[in-house]
Amino acid sequence: MKPENDIFRDICRKNNWKCTIQRRLIYEYLIANRCHPNAETVRAHLKTILPDVSLDSVYRILADFCAAGIVKRLDSGPSYRYDINTVPHDHFVCQDCGRLHDIDVVEESSLANHCTSLGRVLNYELEVRGICHSCLDSHKPSDLSTRRDPLTSPEDFPDVVLDSAGAAY
Ligand SMILES: [Zn+2]
Ligand SMILES: [Zn+2]
Repeated sequence: MKPENDIFRDICRKNNWKCTIQRRLIYEYLIANRCHPNAETVRAHLKTILPDVSLDSVYRILADFCAAGIVKRLDSGPSYRYDINTVPHDHFVCQDCGRLHDIDVVEESSLANHCTSLGRVLNYELEVRGICHSCLDSHKPSDLSTRRDPLTSPEDFPDVVLDSAGAAY
């Protein structure tokens, strides 16, 4: 396997880009941190090495990477996220910490088949929302109960004793 540096040089050559240090650092960051960062996160990392880097240049380089197909821009949450994994895959989004986890497609989803009655499917992306394990582990049970569907009725808690005013013990 080629070292990352050579791969990056090939990418630059193919796209007629200058192999600038900014480009290289962003590419290496995305390869090493497959956390679907947004531009601000990328810039925060870059600033530790290149303190003068502007958010504009980070956006420009990320846009170049997207146009060249080496990074995919995800329109998830309040800001765009960038994914170095360009193989089709779905995401699990933690609603607490905002982390995006790749879902490896184990078998061909039947979702596309279901849509054939509506038209021809060109591509699709699935976003599953939930709470990741590390957030679940850091929550006390009382936190979790407040996340339940507000329509949840006391019958869902057969062990809970209600007093006459309806307050649970
Ligand atoms: Zn989380
Ligand atoms: Zn991904």
